[in-house]
Amino acid sequence: MFGGRGPDDSANGGNDSTDDHDYRRARERMVDRLAARENFDDATLAAMEAVPRHEFVPPGRRDRAYEDRPLPIGSDQTISAPHMVAAMVDQLDLSPGESVLEIGTGCGYHAAVTAEVVGPENLYSVEYHESLAESARGQLDDLGYGDISIRVGDGHEGWPGFAPYDAAYLTAAPSDFPDAVVEQVRPGGRLLGPLESGGRLGGQRLVFARKRADGSLDREARGRVRFVPMLD
Ligand code: SAH
Repeated sequence: MFGGRGPDDSANGGNDSTDDHDYRRARERMVDRLAARENFDDATLAAMEAVPRHEFVPPGRRDRAYEDRPLPIGSDQTISAPHMVAAMVDQLDLSPGESVLEIGTGCGYHAAVTAEVVGPENLYSVEYHESLAESARGQLDDLGYGDISIRVGDGHEGWPGFAPYDAAYLTAAPSDFPDAVVEQVRPGGRLLGPLESGGRLGGQRLVFARKRADGSLDREARGRVRFVPMLD
């Protein structure tokens, strides 16, 4: 397991407070529920168990941090529900050492879970709102994920400097995968994100895609989802 604070290495110098203990128990129960609900990889479940979600939500919402629901994080944005983060990490089928581009850092929680699987130094994340990027950076540093790279900017442009990536995912919904992001994923690499489906039914679908050698995408819709729209 990469980064992250170990169970007995909490911010108060290893003096495990009742609070930390309660959060850990709540997190274990959350992981049990996720495992009962879906056939997630062990690595996905271990990552969900390692990352303290309560540290990423506003203090007034901490008591609800391990419920399976999205929560507001400021700037009109939300942290995804735990099962959605687990599903996205799982579906990308990531291996340690793979490089990953995230569009939409938000509070940094999803980034930390992904970093548990690939290693924080392999994760590059782009966030539109400077205030969110800054607080995510601070929180990730504090929790041992300081090697995650964060850039303030428009995710439609991806992050060319560290391309090619083995995988890329979006946590806000555009109408299609941005061209630059597709370009920055290597042939054979994977993309995952909520896309506005348009048409009569509307709504969003989570779409998984593998990039073919010729640069085109082999797509597969994975079900209805609801994410915040990607800003432009
Ligand atoms: N993964 C986040 C979820 C964040 S919600 C978490 O765990 O908290 C979606 C995020 O995408 C928001 O932070 C929003 O500001 C960001 N976003 C929206 N449009 C964007 C764009 N064009 N480029 C980069 N980030 C964007």
